[in-house]
Amino acid sequence: MIFVTRSSIPDFDEYMKEIKDIWESHWLTNMGPKHEQFKNMLKDYLRTDNIELFTNGHMALELSLQAMELEGEVITTPFTFASTTHAIVRNRLEPVFCDIDPITYTINMDIIESLITDRTCAILPVHVYGNICNIEEIDRIAKKYELKVIYDAAHTFGETYKGLSTSEFGDASCFSFHATKVFNTIEGGAVCFRDKEIGMKLRDLKNFGIHGQEEVSAVGANAKMNEFCAAMGICNLRHIDSEIAKRKTAAERYNSHLSGIDGIQLNTIQKDVQSNYAYYPVLFDKSIFGADRDEISDELKKYGIHPRKYFYPLTSAFTAFKGRFDVGLTPSALSISRNILTLPLYADLAIEDIDRICEIILSCKK
Ligand SMILES: *Cc1c(COP(=O)(O)O)cnc(C)c1O
Repeated sequence: MIFVTRSSIPDFDEYMKEIKDIWESHWLTNMGPKHEQFKNMLKDYLRTDNIELFTNGHMALELSLQAMELEGEVITTPFTFASTTHAIVRNRLEPVFCDIDPITYTINMDIIESLITDRTCAILPVHVYGNICNIEEIDRIAKKYELKVIYDAAHTFGETYKGLSTSEFGDASCFSFHATKVFNTIEGGAVCFRDKEIGMKLRDLKNFGIHGQEEVSAVGANAKMNEFCAAMGICNLRHIDSEIAKRKTAAERYNSHLSGIDGIQLNTIQKDVQSNYAYYPVLFDKSIFGADRDEISDELKKYGIHPRKYFYPLTSAFTAFKGRFDVGLTPSALSISRNILTLPLYADLAIEDIDRICEIILSCKK
């Protein structure tokens, strides 16, 4: 069986060595030594002083929105993971869905301004599959209308744009270190922020809003990263560059089979972006390729290969939001979500398996 991803893990002995200190200190969570060590390593790697760690990427997003004390509407996209939209709704904010660019799958810059009202307080764009949003343009719009910008950067760990780390964009960038991501801490996340005051709020909010021993200044959650996850992060971060290099080799092998095939749109690495090769999405056009996304997915499953319809359905089409949003207002997102298939991609995916996957896909062409 081949799944869409397989978590990167260090050697067993490396992890055991790392957690030995935890056994000796009995310090399991609440910003212990591993947490601090990992945070410092991330500061170096992401080239930022402004970072807070979280129990997962979702709480990083949800509490970032809370820290900004927003009210009203947030412009975002529905072509994303549940977390993005849920973070908005759980903060009692109103998501306003913007359509996506048909090549990068990120927020469509030509539409954003038409969605701004006097209730708009922020933009929450998503860097999709490692494709970076048009940050210059988003910056310009945010300045013009005095909006906050919170990036869902769950897919961009380890990437740079024009040499800048993706942690440097917007008022905050939220990362996920979930097991299925390019870099994992088992479960985990982080926020990189611009304003030190937001950092202080985030520190309180992830620990119940406790500001000092006798002061609770906000209604926070519990979203701290524990020592075992931090230890996993320390180990995995040592190997991140070679993991990304292996992903690149795998992605290029896929390209060698699938590029230039009529009816298939591959993801292109953007200019000025150092990619992390997070995903390998393939967009099928049935009218040209002959088979549709669902048929291809079913065919692969017959051989024990499990790609993912990612992102499908759109978050605006979730049963939880029944009757609330009109998916017809984001036609590109709707069409892409129905025709895209994310193929297996991870550091140790064998070249022979990639060859086999492509052979099965191409056998579906009519
Ligand atoms: C994974 C992911 C998240 C949430 O991260 P968790 O760590 O799983 O909570 C948010 N947004 C996107 C786009 C993601 O892929």
